[in-house]
Amino acid sequence: MSPGKPKFYLTTPIYYTNGLPHIGHTYSTIVCDTIRRYKRMRGYDVVMTTGTDEHGVNVERSAKKASVPESEFVAKMAAEWKALWDELGVQGDEFIRTTDLKHAHTVQWLFKQCRDNGFVYPGHYTGQYCIFDNAYVDVKPGENCPDCGRPTETVTEANFYFKLSAFQRPLLDWYAKHPDFIQPESRRNEVLSFVEGGLRDLSITRTSVRWGIPVPGEEPHVFYVWFDALTAYLSAVGGPQYEKRGFWPADVHLVGKEIIRFHAVYWPAFLMAAGLPLPKQIWAHGWLLMDSAKMSKSLGNVVRPRPIVHVLGMDALRYYLLRETVFGQDGNFSYDALVTRYNSDLANGLGNLASRVLTMIEQHLRGIAPGKPSAAEDARDERIIDLRRETILQTCQHYDRFEFSRALEAIWRLMAEVDKYLVETKPWVQVKAPGSYGQFVTTIYTAYQALREAVILAHPILPSATQKIWKQMGQTEELSTLDIHLDWPPMANAHIGKIEAVFPRIEKAEAIERMESMEKEEQKQPSQVTAPTPASAPTTGGAAAAAAPAAAEKIGLEDFAKVEMRVGQIKTAERIVGADKLLKLTVDIGTEIRQICAGIAQYYEPEKLIGRRVAVVVNLAPRKLRGVESNGMIIAAAVGPEGRPVLAGFPDEDVEIGARLK
Ligand SMILES: [Zn+2]
Repeated sequence: MSPGKPKFYLTTPIYYTNGLPHIGHTYSTIVCDTIRRYKRMRGYDVVMTTGTDEHGVNVERSAKKASVPESEFVAKMAAEWKALWDELGVQGDEFIRTTDLKHAHTVQWLFKQCRDNGFVYPGHYTGQYCIFDNAYVDVKPGENCPDCGRPTETVTEANFYFKLSAFQRPLLDWYAKHPDFIQPESRRNEVLSFVEGGLRDLSITRTSVRWGIPVPGEEPHVFYVWFDALTAYLSAVGGPQYEKRGFWPADVHLVGKEIIRFHAVYWPAFLMAAGLPLPKQIWAHGWLLMDSAKMSKSLGNVVRPRPIVHVLGMDALRYYLLRETVFGQDGNFSYDALVTRYNSDLANGLGNLASRVLTMIEQHLRGIAPGKPSAAEDARDERIIDLRRETILQTCQHYDRFEFSRALEAIWRLMAEVDKYLVETKPWVQVKAPGSYGQFVTTIYTAYQALREAVILAHPILPSATQKIWKQMGQTEELSTLDIHLDWPPMANAHIGKIEAVFPRIEKAEAIERMESMEKEEQKQPSQVTAPTPASAPTTGGAAAAAAPAAAEKIGLEDFAKVEMRVGQIKTAERIVGADKLLKLTVDIGTEIRQICAGIAQYYEPEKLIGRRVAVVVNLAPRKLRGVESNGMIIAAAVGPEGRPVLAGFPDEDVEIGARLK
């Protein structure tokens, strides 16, 4: 911490550890890292917090599935998240885990403040509970669980309520007084209308959950979801002693649009209730869509960052995410566009300009970048000099407003102009023509200075590649330690280093194929939670590794849900010539009549099967058995040493044909 520097505090969401990071989490984090790097280069003392939300029923369940204690499960997940951020060049200052002791103390302290100030009261929470999933589900009494389809029960448990209803007016006043509090505008309007519609008190503890921070003196109450997770922003920078460190209130909480309400309504209300300062801004970005659909596990279109980093490098991913999407709006992700951007903007753009300028210095100036020439500049030189100044101004303005794609456009416009300038001035002719050596030096000097500025300005987004080019330009200092300002002194007499392509061109089809096949490999791993890659999970314990094979034999509910079983009624049954084990059946499954072959001919008389109700797997791909098409499968138990088939049926109930088995 440096005294005298202005402070800046920003946060990513505190990610839920039940899964591993995908490209959406990556986007939030890269944006924060970019802001952090930029602010540092503008002279700020910056703290960026990221972290993991490690409590709750889902973690309890996943740990159980992996046969490890919760603490071990979350430690491993936190290590995975950290490792990925390292690979992406993210320099978080604080990594808060909601299982950290200092976080527990902060949550308990915040609760006490709210309670002492009269905003917490005991009550009962009543909701629909799914016993199978061990969780409350958001349905009406009598409705089934949206996750597993089983009946839910109405359950009432003791808990504590937060008096959110008391904050409708104070929040609306706050939004009115701080018009920039919620960004962008569309999200602000959404939050305003939500709050204007009235606020209901919020249940903030549970007695049905075990894996959580205890409410002091009120065990078995533990804090529930948002009161726990949101407080991590404060515990990361000192908790109750936040004033000592001086980073609270936060300047920006960066979040995805789906969690704006919790950040812009609940969180400021908790802080108001405790008498604490409110964050200055909540910025909600959009989603990354895959072919215009939200990425989700069940759709199977989740993109993971690692394959991209392995094939194109982390800078390519960072560049693509910030260049292609207007910050605040939804963006589209496609491998095709990613590789196109890589080749056009990075390989042919920045990479090509750097090697062009540096190669001329190597060939014609003995590898020494020229100092400011004494010869007068002509109009073409002056145009570039003006544009350099303009680009610095514009880029900083865009960065300040989180307009990352426009910042990059401005930098790339400068580089395109320098390219054009080189084509027009033809330094390779100037250097040989009699009497034009002075002009040649001016041209190279002008291009080199512009390249330098482009590299410095792009550094927050391309931290690794710009540092490599910087070194090739003959500079020794770390780019991240430079201050961006308008009047950089010209750089002179730098001995350029070894010139290497920072972004080698890549063949599109090959790159996409490699990324997609790595993506599939990652998905094939039964569960990265139980079988993390050794390189990226430094805290992996032996116990967890040993548990992996056992866990791999089990399937998740989502796998089970893929099998569609229905009640069917056998309409006809006949033997198949040349296949004495098979019967050819036609089965009514409610929506249609199917032909299905079953290996039961030795045990069931065909005529006795007519009218019988059986369990049928209806979404099995059709196949041929002894040349006869079979479109589905009849469920039977295998009994005895010979595996005698016994048909599953419904003797007790008159079940409806076509009813789904769950
Ligand atoms: Zn359920």
